[in-house]
Amino acid sequence: MSQKCPRCSNALEVIDIDGIKIDRCGSCCGIFLDENELGQIKSRGSASIEELAAGGKLPAGAIAEGGKINCVRCSSAMQTVNFSYTSGIMIDHCPACNSVWLDNGELGKIIEFLKAGESSGAEDQARYNDLLNEVKNKTRQQMENNFRSISSGGKMGSIVNFVYKMINKVTG
Ligand SMILES: [Zn+2]
Ligand SMILES: [Zn+2]
Repeated sequence: MSQKCPRCSNALEVIDIDGIKIDRCGSCCGIFLDENELGQIKSRGSASIEELAAGGKLPAGAIAEGGKINCVRCSSAMQTVNFSYTSGIMIDHCPACNSVWLDNGELGKIIEFLKAGESSGAEDQARYNDLLNEVKNKTRQQMENNFRSISSGGKMGSIVNFVYKMINKVTG
């Protein structure tokens, strides 16, 4: 028996996206995903997912978003939540079975949000590496200065020089 769209009561159709079976409403283009399916979609990026994410072309206001709906799978009342807490993308989430209902276009926003998150993560990493190199260089400079001031000559001086060379070898 096919499930009904929580938004417009149309029968949901099961579509196959790279082997992931997804319930979608052909009328309002909403998508129902259980916990597993959302994870699978997040971890993959393919043309068919992008196509699904783009959603359908619907006139503005064609569907009443934001109203309370019940979970397609377990009939619990779904809650409107901010995806990933800070994204600003409001999705319907089932607290009982962790499924989500995505209205037309919301999947596209989520994928964009996740992509942006990945690239800012890379930027953070680059900034961190720069900082780390700066600290390394400063520390080395300081060590060099300290060693120079002690290694003014004599037996003590050559030992210090030897130790310094060893440290330099280790830290590269
Ligand atoms: Zn619908
Ligand atoms: Zn549920």
